[in-house]
Amino acid sequence: MGSIRAATGIGPETSRCMLTVAGMDCSSCADAVEKSLRQVDGVRGVRVDVVAGRVEIAYAADIVAPPELARVITRAGYPTTARATATDAGGGGSRPLVLVVAAGTLWALSLASDHLLGGGRLAAAFAVAAMVAGGWYIVPRGIRAARSRALDMNFLMSIAALGALVIGEYQEAASALFLFAVAQLLESRSMDRARNAIRALMRVSPAAATVIREGGEQRVPAGAVRVGEVVVVRPGEKVPVDGVIVAGRSSIDQATITGESMPVEREPGGAVFAGTLNGEGALEVRSTRAASDTTIARIMDAVETAQASRAPSQTFVERFARIYTPLVVLAALGVSVLPPLLGAGTWTEWFYRALVLLVVACPCALVISTPVTVVSALAGAARRGILIKGGLHLENAGRATVVALDKTGTLTAGQPHVVEVVTFDDATERDVVGLAIAVEARSTHPLARALTRYAAAQGVPAAAAADMTAAAGLGVMGTVAGRRVQVGSARHFTRSAPLSAAVTGVLERFDRAGHTGVLVGVGDGHDAAPRVRGAIALADRARPGAAAALRDLRAAGITRIIMLTGDTEATGRAVAAELGPQGIDEVRAGLLPHDKVAAIEALRRGGARVLMVGDGVNDAPALAAADVGVAMGTAGSDVALETADIALMADDLGKLGETVRFARKAERIIRVNIAFALLTKAAFVLLAVAGVATLWMAVLADMGASLIVIANGLRALRV
Ligand code: ADP
Ligand code: MG
Repeated sequence: MGSIRAATGIGPETSRCMLTVAGMDCSSCADAVEKSLRQVDGVRGVRVDVVAGRVEIAYAADIVAPPELARVITRAGYPTTARATATDAGGGGSRPLVLVVAAGTLWALSLASDHLLGGGRLAAAFAVAAMVAGGWYIVPRGIRAARSRALDMNFLMSIAALGALVIGEYQEAASALFLFAVAQLLESRSMDRARNAIRALMRVSPAAATVIREGGEQRVPAGAVRVGEVVVVRPGEKVPVDGVIVAGRSSIDQATITGESMPVEREPGGAVFAGTLNGEGALEVRSTRAASDTTIARIMDAVETAQASRAPSQTFVERFARIYTPLVVLAALGVSVLPPLLGAGTWTEWFYRALVLLVVACPCALVISTPVTVVSALAGAARRGILIKGGLHLENAGRATVVALDKTGTLTAGQPHVVEVVTFDDATERDVVGLAIAVEARSTHPLARALTRYAAAQGVPAAAAADMTAAAGLGVMGTVAGRRVQVGSARHFTRSAPLSAAVTGVLERFDRAGHTGVLVGVGDGHDAAPRVRGAIALADRARPGAAAALRDLRAAGITRIIMLTGDTEATGRAVAAELGPQGIDEVRAGLLPHDKVAAIEALRRGGARVLMVGDGVNDAPALAAADVGVAMGTAGSDVALETADIALMADDLGKLGETVRFARKAERIIRVNIAFALLTKAAFVLLAVAGVATLWMAVLADMGASLIVIANGLRALRV
């Protein structure tokens, strides 16, 4: 949760807390809560999440404490419970319901007595009683908001109702307040439904685990399993921990994490994730991570943080609302005085129109339109194994036009295999391979792993190496038996000395075959330039399904697909050729990590919106340079999970098209929502000024628009 700190630049002595706030269903409420908190001494940052019904507060613990903060929020009119819980009822429970029913009954009685008895005191008395019941929560909130100088809807509604009462429109006043109370109740109920739907989607970890302790099995809360303990997972049970299988084999459905329901086979030594579903075999799993630190816990954390961050559309909408509301209130003032002064109609008539404008000034549907969609979309995506780290990235992915992909490990399976080892001078193949894997020991590069696998298959032991360093996009270096050993691309070597004709010839031959050449060199002294002792050819194939995945990306609306690789042009082209005519438009080869960054920056300057896909480990700079950086196969890799804007849990290119499509759909829903909310508002401003709209119509329209916008936003859960 670093974003509050980042936003306000607050120091390390700041504490933070999360409070659950009930009945906060509109951003003007959020404004009221935020303003009331900001006036408190010691409060350093406030982030209100309307959709989740939560407030995150950064505060100086020596000045103020959470109970005091909770009281401030409660005093602003929103019941608070410390710490987010799953059971908050949002709207404040049954009391508002009783009051709304009472207001409705009284209002009906007032209407009836008006009709039957022809107005008079009784009808007025019922109407006033209806106003009291309907305004029970609204008016006090409005007063509090006015005191913290927030133009909130409760305040505007209260003024409108009071104004109607003043000009004798007591039934209008009663109906407006009653309908508004109904609207608030309905909105808060439907926001609760939305919250629950989202929460249910995210609730995947099992609550209990069967752990082996003191020689027997014990049922304990999943959170109580300690790292290193062994849990028993029966067939059909959910795995309660992140861990490694110590006994048993089974197929595991990892859909909760990767979004792929195709089960994966796991045997002793294999990793499993908390929240995934065990298949037919019984397993014993040694826990490798604390419950708060499992992959699924990190995903949920990331989604929560993402949901609280603001999407650009939301920022736009909120900025708009901040201008819109005062503007309409000003217009209402103008409407109430100017036309009658100019002799166009009576004071009462224009005063009434002004009151309708006050109701129209509430931007409720507009403000809720974006967050409700973004939050649903982020939750829906997470359930498909697509972790989008914020509304900004969702919108950027939805607008991407160009996709750039790293070659090794992204377009290719990252499982290259050795096809040939050429030696020079008196070196043997065993020497060359043994030296190579010695200095590659710490590297996680796919080529390093390929060499290690090859050595194991050939029974070549690794020599002992020291001082290993890696040069990103070039290779590695280290010291073996006092001699400098260097492993990597031709470029890694030509930096110190030119290559011999023999070596160049071999590399060209590898190149023509589309193979990646890795040179192994040994320096005589510690500083001498390394002499090439061997050249290893590795072949890497495009992933199965990669061609289809790229076609799918185009179908999702991507117009240009570019391969970025540190490998040679010929090798890049060989992989591109495998991907078919619909695959790669352009191969850019021989790129060092900073060249990839430059390539992406150039594309962006050219007006493209670039989505960069990589493994998130050695191409992090390029991911960061793109409009949106996507890392693949991140379940289990913390680095990738942290660095990418979007993390695909599964190691599956097919998720890319799905991601883009998902983001576009969410983007469309956001646009429709904003447009719809703006249009209803615009229409009602006109109708109000023209004198066609009544108070209750305006309230009804606002309620209808809010409900529609919420329902539409929820569609983003299931695109
Ligand atoms: P890509 O852009 O295709 O993912 P990289 O930028 O990771 O490729 O690497 C570019 C080239 O640098 C590789 O083709 C290889 O020749 C060399 N290289 C990088 N890292 C290593 C390593 N650990 N061992 C051997 N060669 C390496
Ligand atoms: Mg790479």
